[in-house]
Amino acid sequence: MHSNDDITIARAKRALTERILPAVYAESVALRVTASELPGEPVSAPDAIAGTFTSHAVGSPWGRAWGTTWFRLRGTIPPSWHGRRVEAVIDLGFDGRMTGFQCEGLVYRPDGTSVKAVNPQNHWVLITPEAEGGEAVDLFVEAASNPTILHGRGYLPTAQGDVLTATDDALYATRRIDLAIFEPAVFDLAMDLEVLLELQDHLAAGPRRARILQALDDALDLLDPRDIGGSADAVRAVLRPILDSPAESSAHRIAAVGHAHIDSAWLWPVRETERKVARTVSSMLALLEETDDFIYGMSSAQQFDWIRRARPDLWERVVEAVATGRFIPLGGMWVESDTVMPSGESLVRQFLHGQRFFEREFGVRSTGVWLPDSFGYSPALPQLIRRAGFEWFFTQKISWNQTNEFPHHAFVWHGIDGTGILTHFPPMDTYGAQLSGEELARASTRFRENRYAPASIAPTGYGDGGGGTTREMIARQKRTSDLEGSPRVEWQAPDLFFDELAALSPSLPTWSGELYLELHRGTLTSQHAMKAGNRQVEQLLVEAEIWMMTASVLRDAIYPHDEMDALWESVLLHQFHDILPGTSIAWVHREARERYAELAAAAESLITTALAALTGAGEKDLVANGSPFVNAEIAFGAIGPVRHPDGEATISESSDGWVLANDLVRVSVSRDGLITSAVDLASGREAILPGRSANLLQVHDDLPNEWDAWDVDRFYRNRREDLTSAIRTAARHDGERAIVDIDRAISTRSRVVQTLSLAPDSRELRIEQTTHWQEDERFLKLSFPLDVRAESSIAETQFGVVQRPTHTNTSWDDARFETSMHRFVLVEEPGFGVAVTNDSSYGFDITRVPTDNGWGVDLRVSVLRAPVFPDPDTDRGEHRHVFGLVIGTDTPGAMRAAAALGVPTRAIRGANSVEPLVRLVGDGIAVSAMKPAADRSGDIIVRVHEFQGRRSIGKLTASIATKSVRPVTLLEEELEPGAAAGLGVGEELALVLAPFEVQTWRLTPER
Ligand SMILES: [Zn+2]
Repeated sequence: MHSNDDITIARAKRALTERILPAVYAESVALRVTASELPGEPVSAPDAIAGTFTSHAVGSPWGRAWGTTWFRLRGTIPPSWHGRRVEAVIDLGFDGRMTGFQCEGLVYRPDGTSVKAVNPQNHWVLITPEAEGGEAVDLFVEAASNPTILHGRGYLPTAQGDVLTATDDALYATRRIDLAIFEPAVFDLAMDLEVLLELQDHLAAGPRRARILQALDDALDLLDPRDIGGSADAVRAVLRPILDSPAESSAHRIAAVGHAHIDSAWLWPVRETERKVARTVSSMLALLEETDDFIYGMSSAQQFDWIRRARPDLWERVVEAVATGRFIPLGGMWVESDTVMPSGESLVRQFLHGQRFFEREFGVRSTGVWLPDSFGYSPALPQLIRRAGFEWFFTQKISWNQTNEFPHHAFVWHGIDGTGILTHFPPMDTYGAQLSGEELARASTRFRENRYAPASIAPTGYGDGGGGTTREMIARQKRTSDLEGSPRVEWQAPDLFFDELAALSPSLPTWSGELYLELHRGTLTSQHAMKAGNRQVEQLLVEAEIWMMTASVLRDAIYPHDEMDALWESVLLHQFHDILPGTSIAWVHREARERYAELAAAAESLITTALAALTGAGEKDLVANGSPFVNAEIAFGAIGPVRHPDGEATISESSDGWVLANDLVRVSVSRDGLITSAVDLASGREAILPGRSANLLQVHDDLPNEWDAWDVDRFYRNRREDLTSAIRTAARHDGERAIVDIDRAISTRSRVVQTLSLAPDSRELRIEQTTHWQEDERFLKLSFPLDVRAESSIAETQFGVVQRPTHTNTSWDDARFETSMHRFVLVEEPGFGVAVTNDSSYGFDITRVPTDNGWGVDLRVSVLRAPVFPDPDTDRGEHRHVFGLVIGTDTPGAMRAAAALGVPTRAIRGANSVEPLVRLVGDGIAVSAMKPAADRSGDIIVRVHEFQGRRSIGKLTASIATKSVRPVTLLEEELEPGAAAGLGVGEELALVLAPFEVQTWRLTPER
C-alpha cells in the first residue's frame, strides 16, 4: 500500500486551523465599547465603574506601561440567537505566544462583582449558555497594560521594569470585542482532531497510528467546508471509535491538577500580583462551575489573603469552593519561598503562618509542601517538612539542571538529620502543563520509576504570571482519560496521588542531602539589599520576640501579637522565590528595599520598648544579649552589667605593613591592605597559604549566556582582575581594637573602603566593608587562600551545617561551583579550622590550590554582582558588608562567632539587670527562638536544635514556675497528647538531641 501519512496529517492540520477553529464562533456582533484610563495606580471596581467613560473604537491603541484602562462593553443579544450559547469574545491586543507577561483583563458586572479573566489564551466570557434573545449585555473590563519585559526580546536591559522609568506611549491596540454564538460541536470537533493529531505524532509506526490516520481521512471526507457547524457531528461520529478505544492496561497514569503558578512578584510588582491572583481565581471558579470533575490547586496563604482582604465577593466563592474539596489550598506555606537563604526560623514561620491561615479560614491544612519553582532546596527541609506535619514534597525545578539529569522522579529525600520525606518531580518537567500530546508522551516514556510506580502529577494550567487551566485543557483530559496509545489522564488531588505513592515507598530510591539546582547560582548574590534586608529583619524579629516575651512574662508588658504577625508576614512575602533571590524588575526591588527599612525600624522600636520595660528607668550601663550564646559574659536572653575585656589588642609596624595581635591570634596586614599571615598563637599554626594573601578582592567579567540576574556561568572564572594595590592604608588603635583602614579602587567608577580590626580576646579579624559599586556585568569576590587541607567545606544552613566535597571528582561535584551558606563557612583539618563569617552574604566558592606538599583551599565569598536584566541598575550604589576571618576554630566556634556578628549585644541604660527567662546548657545545642505560642494562650515556645551533627544532651531551665512543659510540632501542637509535668523555678528539663535535631518545647507558666 502506498503511504500518504504526511498528506493526511497536513490535511487535518489545515482543516483544523483554517476552517474548524475559526468556525467555533459561528456569528458575532460588535459590542459598543467605551473606555476610562486611570491616571495612576489601580482603584476598586466600584470607584472605577463610577468614572467617566469615553468612546473607544476597537482597533485603536490603549494602555501605557503599568496603566489600567477600564472598558465598558454594552450590547444586545440578537433575537435570532434564541437557544444558542452566547459568549463575549475579547481580544485586548494579545500576543498568543505568552500568557501572563503582557496585557490582561478581569471582567466585572456593573455591581462590581468579578466574572472571569481574559488573557492571551482565554478570550471568552460566558454571557448565557442558552439565550432567550434580546437580553441586554453590560460588562466592564479592568484591563492592565503590563509591559512585556522578557519574551521575544532576549535579556536586554529595559527601563519598563519600573513605573518611574517606564514609557508613556500606548502599548496595545484592541482587536476584537464582540458578542458571538459559541458552537459546542465545532469546538469538540477541533479538540478531537487536535488530540488525535498530537497522539499519532508520538506513536511508533504500527496499527494504532495507521488507524488514527485513516480515521482522520475518513472523517474529513465528511466535513462540509461551507457548513462546518452543520457537518461537525457527522465528522465526529467517524472519529468516535478511535477515541473510544481504551488505554493499555499498563498505560502510565497522569494525576492532573488544575494550577496556575503565580509568582508573587517578578516581572510585575506585588500590587499587580494581587490582581493576577484575582483574575486567575475568577476564571478557575468559573471553570469549576462549568465542570464536574475538574479540580484546582492554589498555593500560598498570602495569595488567598490578598483576596480575603480586598475582594469579598470572590472570597465568599473561594471559601465555598474549598469546602467542596475541588479548590485545594496547596503547600501550607505563606508564599512559595526560596528555601536556600531564609533562616531556619523563617522557614518554620512560612509553615506556621501558612498552615494557620488555611486552618483558620478553611478548616483544612495542606498535607504536602508545594514548591515547583524555587531555586534549589535546603537539606534542612525534610526534617522541617515532617516536623510541621506534612507528608510529601513536590517540585520540578531540578529538571532545569545545566549538567546532570536528576536520576529519580519519585523518591524519598533525606535531609541532614536523616529524616526522609516522600518526594515527587513530575516527569513532564513543567509546572504549567497543557496536557499536550508531547507532554503526555514525555511523562510516560521518561518517568524514571516506571518499573514499579504507575503515575505522575501534571500541574495543569498557564503559570508564572497566572492564567490557569483552560477549557481546551479540560477537553484534552476528557479525551485522554482512557485512550489507546496515551497515558490515562484524570483530575486527581495531589493528596490521593501521594497516598498511592506512599504505599510504594519501601521500593522507592533515596536521595541524601541538598537538592542543588545546577543553574541560577547568581541568585545567592544578585540584589544585595535583599540579602542584607532579609538577614537583618529575620534576626531582629527573632530578637524582638525574645525581649518582648521576657517583658510580657516578667513585667506584664502587652505582647503586640497583631503587629508581630504582620511584620513576620511581610518578611515571609519578601522571601518569595523572585524577591529574595534578586530576580525581579527594578520596581519590586525598590519597594522591597523600602519595606526592609520599615521592618527593621519597627523591630528596633519593639526591642527598645521591651528592653526599657525590662530594665526600668535608670543610669546603669548594661548589656543585653539576644544571641543564643554567651556574649560579653552575658547569657542568652539576659541583661547584665558591662564588663571590659581583660586582654588587649595591639598593633605594631612591620617591614611591609602592620601586625595586629592579641592573646589568641596574630595577623599581618601588608601596606596594600592584604592579609599575608594569620597565626593561631596557641598552636603556632599559620592559616594563610604560603605566598598567597587573603582579603584579596577579585573582579570577574560576568555575562552569563542567559538569565542574567539568575545565572553565573562557569566561564566567569576565566577573566579576573586581582585588586592588589590600595590608594591608601593606615593603622590606628581605638583604645580597644587594633585597626587598619584601607581605601581601594575597583575601577575608575567604583571603590571599596575596608576597616580591618582585631578586638581583645577574639579569634576573629573583622572586615567591615563599604563598596561604592557602579559596575556593569562584573562579579566581586573576596578571597581567603587558606593552608587547610579540607576534604569538605562546612557551611551553615538552617539549624545546622551542610558539608560539600572540595574536590571535583564527579560531574555533580564539578557543577557545584557556586554554593550557599548562611552566616559562616568553615574549612578544617582535625583540630584546626578557619571560618569566614558574614552579615549579609549567601554565596561562596571553594577550590583546591596546589602547594609544595599537597594542596590548600581558596575560599571565596561572593560579594556583589552587576547584571543588567531584569533590573538595568541592579546593585548600583553603596553596599555595606561585614565579614570575619576566624582563626583556629571549629563548628561551635564558627557558630558562636557568626551569631555574635549577626546579633551583637546591645549597650543600654537602665536600673537593673535581668535574668534570662529560659536557660539552655549543652554542648553544640542552641535556642533558635523563644516566643509566645501562636495561639496567644500565653504559653512560651522554646525551640532548640543541635548544630554540629552529633548526638547531644542538654538542660533547659526556666526562671518562672511552669504547669507543664511539652514537646510540640513546629506548628506548636502536642506530639503526644497527655499530661506533662511542669518545672519549678530552676528545675531542669533534660534534653536529648539527635544529630541536627530541631525540638520545639511548649511551656505553660503557672498563673
Ligand atoms: Zn516562580
